[in-house]
Amino acid sequence: MNIVENIEVFSKDLANLNQKYTRNCKLLAVSKTKSEELILEAYQEGLRDFGENKAQEMQGKYENLPKDISWHFIGHLQRNKVKYIASFVDTIHAVDSLRLLQEINKQAQKYDRIINCFLQVYIAQEATKFGLSFQETEEILESEELKTYKNISIKGFMGMATFTDNQEQIREEFKSLQNFYEETKEKYQSDNVQLKELSMGMSNDYEIAIEQGSTMIRIGTAIFGKRNYTK
Ligand SMILES: *Cc1c(COP(=O)(O)O)cnc(C)c1O
Repeated sequence: MNIVENIEVFSKDLANLNQKYTRNCKLLAVSKTKSEELILEAYQEGLRDFGENKAQEMQGKYENLPKDISWHFIGHLQRNKVKYIASFVDTIHAVDSLRLLQEINKQAQKYDRIINCFLQVYIAQEATKFGLSFQETEEILESEELKTYKNISIKGFMGMATFTDNQEQIREEFKSLQNFYEETKEKYQSDNVQLKELSMGMSNDYEIAIEQGSTMIRIGTAIFGKRNYTK
């Protein structure tokens, strides 16, 4: 497994897909469970955006790695863990409640910074996935409470398709989020809400995600190889 080669191949593939679908989709390298050495190799290939899903693991990596890395938190985040990442995290991709937003705002305020947030919208037919319904998402965007959160900025939505080989199902799920995004991005605009990002697509479904308007794909396996959770 050779990261340098993987990144070269993947970057070409992404450039081709962006051309094919006239997109400008960005790559977020998902480095969860991977060593700092491997992240440094990817960094040396020019990657600067990395995604993690454990707060303390991300904090450790942040401390040891170059400071021009943008750290994205991509997993389900518990409120009592926000404090570990609030001083440095660039974007939190999977915000699924107003209470979590309130805590992110509170922790960001301590460091006098603004944390970018994506609302995670539930589009899959799998009970195991987290996220908000379209209606719950709009309730958050409309809430008076949200207007008082000066230290967060809602930048878009994140969605995960069902883990399946059925390409049509994946396409329909991504399309539903793309439609919702198109409907809402003009409707909700305020000091802390500017919807311009759609975080969707992983190693197994990124082509369909780009076709359906993704602006940021979250890629782990295709760059870093399979994850070993037993270590
Ligand atoms: C692990 C993970 C990814 C990356 O998955 P791969 O299939 O390895 O590309 C993307 N998004 C989220 C939310 C993840 O947890």
